[in-house]
Order: sequence, then structure tokens, then C-alpha cells
Amino acid sequence: MSLRTMLGKSLGGTGQFVLGLAILAALLAGLHLAAPTPTALTPADGDAPASSGQAAASTGGTSPYRDKLADYGVCRGTDPACYNDWDLPRDDDGVVRVLVFTATGSSRHAHLGPLLPAGMNPPLTSAHVAQNAVVRWGQENGFEVDWTEDVRQLDAPAKLAPYDAVVFLSNSRTMLDDASQTALLQYVRSGGGFVAIHNTLGAMYHWPWFQGLLGGANFYDHGPHRDGQIVTTDRRDASTRDLPPRWDFRDEWYNLEPFPTGVRFVAEVDTATIGNHTGFNGHPGHAGDHPVSWCQYYDGGRAWVTTLGHDSAAWTEDSALPGAGSFEKHVVGGILSAAGARPFCR
Ligand SMILES: [Zn+2]
Repeated sequence: MSLRTMLGKSLGGTGQFVLGLAILAALLAGLHLAAPTPTALTPADGDAPASSGQAAASTGGTSPYRDKLADYGVCRGTDPACYNDWDLPRDDDGVVRVLVFTATGSSRHAHLGPLLPAGMNPPLTSAHVAQNAVVRWGQENGFEVDWTEDVRQLDAPAKLAPYDAVVFLSNSRTMLDDASQTALLQYVRSGGGFVAIHNTLGAMYHWPWFQGLLGGANFYDHGPHRDGQIVTTDRRDASTRDLPPRWDFRDEWYNLEPFPTGVRFVAEVDTATIGNHTGFNGHPGHAGDHPVSWCQYYDGGRAWVTTLGHDSAAWTEDSALPGAGSFEKHVVGGILSAAGARPFCR
């Protein structure tokens, strides 16, 4: 049944049909006028770089996809005044404890291995290369590591409270429920440390607070998995202090939309070394200005984020992958600084 037929039947008669069309047009006009206007929580695509309030230590250049600074309704940026220094027991016991969380809502990276059984610290096999790496790095660098991908281990603030940092490692899409979302939010607000690695930029897209925690950024797409050279743009930070000014690595070089704002970039990929590839969903890439790692204070907590880590060889012991040693130092420094055990986001 056509619209005309429906209106004709419901209103009857030509005059009433015309009246119906007029009412419909008025309704559509009203809907248009009532369309929501962009807010701080929905950065406008394609806008020019924010000229004020941009706390990011930009590495220069311009990007066609630079987004306005969004504050997500919380205190965020590189100013330590945004940190809630509550002097909790976990801060004073002399032990750095880290929880690695690898739940996946859809796609699962090879470096995570097969799905893990429920519970805390389930048995790892040699296929769980990323989890094994963080455990090994903890042993080598003096921090304790628990691991899980069971959301019930995160379903109350008290369960996260003992940890100096939680490491979200290659999560995908929607993997948190209401209780674990609330626990994470409360944990960060209590001055907790948060680390996001690789595909976690592509998780919880529908939760604006989480997008803010990631630096106001999300994974959009990527080009081919390929070699490139990373430039350490800030060598004062714990995650970059021991790195060379430039180092070889292999990754997917995530394209980001929104582009991170309000953060301190600590490393970027030299886009002259990775070629100009459009991502698989059409993103043109970040020519000349392509951050790969950054940090910020966010809603009382500390957040350190890296897009790196796709290649399983980045996580394996005694890896032959160029830059694997630098990647290890980078992530260990990010974890320890987010945990408050090293100077953070300098
Ligand atoms: Zn990947």
C-alpha cells in the first residue's frame, strides 16, 4: 500500500488528503528543526584542529580528520590536577599489582590465543603469547600480574581496588556488562591506572566515557600489516625514556576516528616509512601526523594507550621481530607509570 493510498484511506477525500500531506510536511519540518546538535561528546568529523583547550603536545602537521577536544564531562588532560590522589592502601604496600583483562566481544587476535576458562588466573598455554609476555615482563620488572577474561572478576569496585593498574589487552567490541562498567568507572575515579593495548581501541564503541578514557579516540581501520619506523616524540616519559629516537617495528598502524585529543603523544609512526594506504574502511590515513601511543589523566585516574601490538612476534620471548625489545620497554614503562610506580605522562 502506497503512502498516498494509506493517507487517502485514513483521511478520505482529496481535500483531506492534501491536508494530510500538509500535516506530514509540517511534522517533517519539525523533526528537522528538532534534530540534535553536536555536543562535546560527539566530536564533529573534519573540523579544524581545536585552537584552545587542546592539551595535546601535537607533533605538528595537519590531519583531515582532526577532531575538536571533547571533555566527556570529566577532568582530563595532561594536568596532574585531574588526578585523584586518595592515598589508598594499594599505593603504600610496596607491591605493584596488575590485572590483565583479555575478554573479546567479537574478533580475537592471534596473540591472545584460544578463549580462556572462567575465573582468575586460568592455565595459560604457549598460544597465549600476549598474556604470557605480560606475566614474564612482570617477573623481570618486579610487578605482580593476574589475568582473566571473565567479566565476573570485574563486577564490583572492590575486586579492582587492589590493583595498581588494569591492562585492557586487545579487547573487542562489547565485552563489559553494566556491573563491570561501573566497577571500572569507580576504579578509575579512585585514582586507578588504566592501560589500553591495540584492539582495545575498538572496544565499547557505544560508551562515551570509555572512548574518553582511550584519549577521545577509537580504532577506525588500518592498511596492510607492514614494516615502519616509529619516532619517539617524547623521551621524558617512563614509556619512552629508554627507547631510541627512532625504532623499526611492524604493525597495522591503526587509523583513528575520532583523532585523540587532550593527550600527550609519546610516539608516532613516520608515515613516510609505511606508504600511503587507505584503510580497509576508507580512512585516508594520518599523513605526516600519525600517533601510536599517548597518555592522559582522566576522571581521577591515569590512562596510557598504545595502538601497537598486533604482531604475535612482538610478544614472544627472544623475538627476532625488529623493535620487539623497544616494544617491551614501551609497554612495561606504560604499565609501571599508569600504576604510579614511575613518573607518569611527562
Ligand atoms: Zn591487530
